[in-house]
Amino acid sequence: LSRLKRGLAKSSAKLSDGITGIFTKRRLDAASLEELEELLIAADLGPSVAAKLAESLRKRRFEKDIAPEAVRGALAEDIAQILKPVAKSLTLDPAHRPHVVLVVGVNGSGKTTTIGKLAHYWTGQGKKVWLAAGDTFRAAAIEQLQIWGERTRTPVVAGASGADSAGLAFEALEKAKAANADLLLIDTAGRLHNKANLMAELAKIARVLKKLDPAAPQDCLLVLDATTGQNAIAQVETFRQIVPLTGLVVTKLDGTARGGIVVALAERFGLPVVAVGVGEGADDLRPFEAEAFAQSLVE
Ligand code: GDP
Repeated sequence: LSRLKRGLAKSSAKLSDGITGIFTKRRLDAASLEELEELLIAADLGPSVAAKLAESLRKRRFEKDIAPEAVRGALAEDIAQILKPVAKSLTLDPAHRPHVVLVVGVNGSGKTTTIGKLAHYWTGQGKKVWLAAGDTFRAAAIEQLQIWGERTRTPVVAGASGADSAGLAFEALEKAKAANADLLLIDTAGRLHNKANLMAELAKIARVLKKLDPAAPQDCLLVLDATTGQNAIAQVETFRQIVPLTGLVVTKLDGTARGGIVVALAERFGLPVVAVGVGEGADDLRPFEAEAFAQSLVE
């Protein structure tokens, strides 16, 4: 069993059992399709995706006997089509060093952990990675990033708790440039309750980075906690007004039956999903592949 499939076990159990419940010895008719639509909504795929998927099934097989396996297969195909345009991994331009990634998201969404996992992945690819502890507001976040730095043998630029995050990001880019690093991952604070402050802080980080590299940050990734379900939609809405997002990372899929949120996010925003988190370990950040994800979700 792949790590992804295991990570999505709660979500797939909910959908798979639900489909079995609806379609065992049933026809694909208006009543069963309505139940399916409700199941998809309950599994966080959202009303718009649920309606589209039900409509696609209706067109294909209306008024025919259908086995649960066939419903799962058809859904997996249709979901993969929705996910395909957003399945884009992070790519580093070798001509441009370092590639700077600003990692944003509300506190507890999994930013620091995701940065540690990305550092693990990219150092494994032979890349020179630097980290910046830009969540200067919380001492615990700084410590946690330093632990990931040790674990992945990655230099961490950190200041004292309460230090100016933009100054720290500037210093980190200066050092990463001097070290000829391939990738600089910058952690940020996620105090969304003070949106104006957060906006000013992130804008200032982007501004000072541009003094050293007009193209930085090359990526701005929003980390979303899948266990928050539909709330993830609101977080994208908010953050994309604050910073120009280039991609999403959805974490904690292992702890929830709400994995369908990834499909809702894909359909709604079309933003690349660069990776998904299925556990706390270094290897638990998985590449996002449309077909594998769709199959793991419903089968
Ligand atoms: P931050 O405040 O956004 O930096 O969030 P953290 O990286 O500190 O993560 C918050 C908690 O979620 C920590 O206990 C992490 O170990 C945990 N976490 C992060 N990603 C995942 C994941 O994919 N799966 C699980 N089960 N836990 C995760």
